[in-house]
Amino acid sequence: MSKNQPRERAEQLAALAAKHLEGRGERAPLSVVDQLVYSLIARRAGPAGAAKIVRLLQEAFVDWNELRVSAAHQVARAMGDDRPWALEVAQQMKDVLTELFCVRHNVALGTFKEMTPAQARNFLQSLPHVDRAVAGDVLLLSLGMPSLPFHETTARVFFRLGLTPDDRTIQSNQRAAEHFFEPGLLLAVHLYLSECVFDLCDAEAAKCPECPLKEHCDPHLRPSGRKKGHETS
Ligand code: SF4
Repeated sequence: MSKNQPRERAEQLAALAAKHLEGRGERAPLSVVDQLVYSLIARRAGPAGAAKIVRLLQEAFVDWNELRVSAAHQVARAMGDDRPWALEVAQQMKDVLTELFCVRHNVALGTFKEMTPAQARNFLQSLPHVDRAVAGDVLLLSLGMPSLPFHETTARVFFRLGLTPDDRTIQSNQRAAEHFFEPGLLLAVHLYLSECVFDLCDAEAAKCPECPLKEHCDPHLRPSGRKKGHETS
């Protein structure tokens, strides 16, 4: 790979991401609580699966507080089809909501706006079940802070594009990935990857012929493996 190739690939990714968002208008951010719920589900169901499950939950419960006080098995049932991880994720959502609504009742969510990104990240990661990637979702998608959520799939795509040295979700890889983009482009890059690439870039059975990044991805870093579904159990 030539010295300039990572930079060129990042520029191509940025161009595709900007084009993808063209004409969409401003995106309304989800509230911090909505985003936390969505992200906890997306960690197991993927972005498209999470959107569907959040809709089911919003139909089943008046608000997140009702979900919080409901039994985990009721929440899991409301999530729809039988998923082996539904009970676990239902309990995670209840734990996070309980922490926010009861234990930290004196922390107004609006105060995030007065925090630096580092302070907001520390607060979010102090909540149960909230890892760096989920906190990154909230920072970028709810609070508009310049952070690239670094989920397993994000890390994998950046590695396969040759932009990071390996596919771990560690902070140094996240920083290396962010370094390729202007802060204002991070939202477009994240949305593009979530909507157009994540469902294709499986760890072992990536669907490269269908992928919009196939021209830019390093052929040597692609998997050669067997087929495997998106959801983990
Ligand atoms: S071309 Fe294949 S390996 Fe590369 S990002 Fe797309 S799905 Fe992943």
